[in-house]
Parts: sequence; structure tokens; C-alpha cells
Amino acid sequence: MIDFHCHLDLYSDPSEVVRMAQKNNVGILSVTTTPLAWNGTVLLGEGHPVVRTALGLHPQLASERKHELELFDQFFSQAYFIGEIGLDGLSGSEVNWLDQLVVFEHILSCCNYSNKILSIHSRRSATYVLTLLEKYTGVNFPILHWFSGSQAELRRAINRDCWFSVGPAMLASNKGRTLVAKMPRNRILLETDGPFAKYQRAVLHPWDITVACKLLSEIWNVEYIEGKSIINNNEMNLLMQVGRNYSELDWSF
Ligand code: MN
Repeated sequence: MIDFHCHLDLYSDPSEVVRMAQKNNVGILSVTTTPLAWNGTVLLGEGHPVVRTALGLHPQLASERKHELELFDQFFSQAYFIGEIGLDGLSGSEVNWLDQLVVFEHILSCCNYSNKILSIHSRRSATYVLTLLEKYTGVNFPILHWFSGSQAELRRAINRDCWFSVGPAMLASNKGRTLVAKMPRNRILLETDGPFAKYQRAVLHPWDITVACKLLSEIWNVEYIEGKSIINNNEMNLLMQVGRNYSELDWSF
């Protein structure tokens, strides 16, 4: 199984995290928060086929880092995955919100008809994120990470053919579980959002996607092994739709 949203570069010992993930047969989509972090974060995964790196610019850093869009454009063709990107309705001022819109829309326009997989943040902003995803109809593989919108926003996201990555922290809340129960089973992927996210007060690591899989299986009322097989199928379907070969240990391109 794959952790589709993990900040590998923000752990104190990333190489140990990679080693343990490999040992546990867990793939990592290593998302970045600034284009400046791209080269260094790619290096953390070099020689480790379980790790794939995503090029991102986090909405909370939009004002501070918007000048790095130039770097984003420079690295864009090297990246098969884009994230963490999106909008955050909780953070900051009106100026920051306008910068977030500029940055996110720039990135979506680059991704339109590009066949890239996107990991998207939409806290308190799902309606805005969906309005932009409906505008950029050539963005084929948007994954809404830790979706926390309303039921109506969820229906809209499903109609827009979004994927959803869900983790232990999201599944620990009633609201999260209620949303997940209404997501199409064939559109769900796993994530941890470590080291930001915690579960039962402990920082999450990529191999904790097994916890998410266990909680999901309970929601679906299936055995763990069946839940795992649904997730594996979803991962394979997504990567095959993008037109790539896939295996857990070497989701190489
Ligand atoms: Mn994140």
C-alpha cells in the first residue's frame, strides 16, 4: 500500500523513515511545501523505488513563496506528481488568500491536460477548490487530501471525479468517518500527512497507513484483508489510468 501524502523531508531522520517503509512494503508519495525544497527532497528518495516525490507549493506559504512559481515552472516537467497544493480558508489575511488563488490557479493551469497526479489541500475552502477544478477540466487526477468539506461539497467532488486520500487522523473523528462512508470505495487512497498529523497523540509514519486501512475496513464492514485489497486495486487503477506500471515496491515510471 502507498502513503499518498507524507512530508518525508520534515521528519528528523528521513532515511530511517524510508528504510522502515521499505521494510514494511509501504510506498511513499513524498509531498513538498515549496519548489525550493524539490531538489533536496528528490535526493531523499534517490535509489529507493518506494519513494516518489511531488512538486508543491503549500497554500499557507503562498504569500511568502509565490516568487518560487518560477522554480515550479522550471521543475514541472521533471515531476509526475504535484503536491502539496490547494487552498486554505483558515490561514491568514485577505492578501494571503488572493496570493493563494493566484498560486493555485497558476499550478492548475500548468497541470491542465498534463496527466499528472495532484495532492490537494482544501481545508475550509472546498467550494473554491472545486470551482477551480471544474474550470480546469483537463486536470484528470486530483486527489483531495484529508477532505473536510460539507456533504454537498463531497457530492460535488464525487461528480468532478476526484480521488480522496484518507488517514488515521481523519478517521479518528466522527465527521471524517461520516464523509468517508459516503465516498465511492473505488476512489479512496490512504495517507498519513506525517509528521504533521498525529493519531492517539503519536506522530504518524508512512507504515501507519495500516491503521487507516483497519479503520476504513471497519467503516466498510469488511475484513482487513478485503479492505487492503480494495485499496491496492484503487492504487493500481489510478496509476494504470495515468498510463504507468505499478508495484508497491517499485512504482517506477
Ligand atoms: Mn500535508
